[in-house]
Amino acid sequence: MVRQAIKWVKANQDLLIDISDQIWEFAELGLEEYKSSKLLIKTLNEAGFSVKSNVADMSTAFYADYGKGKPVIGILGEYDALPGLSQKALPFREVLTEGAPGHGCGHNLLGVGSLGAALAVKEAIDTGDVKGNIRFYGCPAEETFNSKGYMIREGLFDDVDIAMTWHPDNFNRLNLMSSLAVNSVVFKFHGRTAHAAGDPQNGRSALDAVELMNIGANFMREHMLPDARLHYVITKGGDAPNVVPAEAEVYYFVRAPERHQVEELYTRLINVAKGATLMTETTMEIDFLSGMYNTMYTEVVSDVISNSMRNVGAPRFNKDDKIFANELKKSMPKDSLEGFYRLIPPEMMEMAKAIFSQPLNKIIIPPIGKGKVDPGSTDVADISWKVPLGEFTTACEAMGSPGHSWQNVATSGMSIGHKGMLTAAKILAISALDFMRNPDLVEKASKEHDHTHKDNPYISPLPEGLKPPYHRLKK
Ligand SMILES: [Zn+2]
Repeated sequence: MVRQAIKWVKANQDLLIDISDQIWEFAELGLEEYKSSKLLIKTLNEAGFSVKSNVADMSTAFYADYGKGKPVIGILGEYDALPGLSQKALPFREVLTEGAPGHGCGHNLLGVGSLGAALAVKEAIDTGDVKGNIRFYGCPAEETFNSKGYMIREGLFDDVDIAMTWHPDNFNRLNLMSSLAVNSVVFKFHGRTAHAAGDPQNGRSALDAVELMNIGANFMREHMLPDARLHYVITKGGDAPNVVPAEAEVYYFVRAPERHQVEELYTRLINVAKGATLMTETTMEIDFLSGMYNTMYTEVVSDVISNSMRNVGAPRFNKDDKIFANELKKSMPKDSLEGFYRLIPPEMMEMAKAIFSQPLNKIIIPPIGKGKVDPGSTDVADISWKVPLGEFTTACEAMGSPGHSWQNVATSGMSIGHKGMLTAAKILAISALDFMRNPDLVEKASKEHDHTHKDNPYISPLPEGLKPPYHRLKK
């Protein structure tokens, strides 16, 4: 059965590569993935899945079921691109469409690798080898906000037994690191306009409030947990120096290892913003865009995935792939692997150096990173609090390629990315089959998850009634 699933992915690799390349070309931003989601839905419909589209108040969110009964295995797919990263599938910088988005996080591969797994599991259900329900989740806008949190709030994960996902990366490895919980919020200040030279005494500058808030926040940094993070950009600051700005806004991320720490910092930040309104005689409103948890993997799921990774093996890159990756390496920052070096225990350092000196990762990296925190955030974390979840990465990028880079856009649209994606599809498929064949594994995972969250249940970080932030999309 394991062989059959692997065979299915091999036999259908041209179809999967074609879908992935189309989504790579669409390169649609979060919440605007209309063509990408339509193509995935069409493929799932044609394969006989029952699709529910337009879910959880998002027109590009959907899920697709095949099979029936228990267990329900959910595989997560994403397909949003990043702004300004348009790039041809070439090993040097050459823009495909000026100013357009690009798949700098490889979510074209992510969505289609997961799709391939769901289709391969469907074949096993059809032949009567396994029983249960395989479900593909089409999750929009991973890069920008917590779409998965909305899907959870809608009850779409209530009957799920196991969830799994993967991500394109430099390496083939099991994800064991946690991620930072986050709130992303826009503070909007309202003042009173005036001629900045003619009657300044009548003006109350909203931009002053933004600047004073930022000063307060920067002083607050001194008194935060070392692992917490605070970043902001001014998204509106006025139009002309001779007009006192009546409207200004600043967009913040507040991150910390635990959800309650984010909430504490966020409360302090609101006080800083209130202080700024007092100083400037302005008013302030909060546009809460998103909140997410930290990731907590369930060990039983991680173990099943780890086993599947060893069964499938690493992607097999050829000479042309190596030449391409070596060429790309010339444009990369020298210290781009620094973060990984910090994860390597001393006894593995020699091996790590040998792996890191290669243009592409050709082996499965032994499990590393447990107990450490990746300083990014993802809405996969919310799923991990809701149901037992495991995640892994496969090598779809040249060694040393930074996250969200044009270099990743390049490899996501050619054979290096394709090979990593097909490897991921196989790993996900045989892991799902493992759970479908062994109800005791499902039960063990569920017990472990229940135990971890018994005093620490998932409470949606999204304030009641909050809608997905369509109003923030650029016109
Ligand atoms: Zn990503």
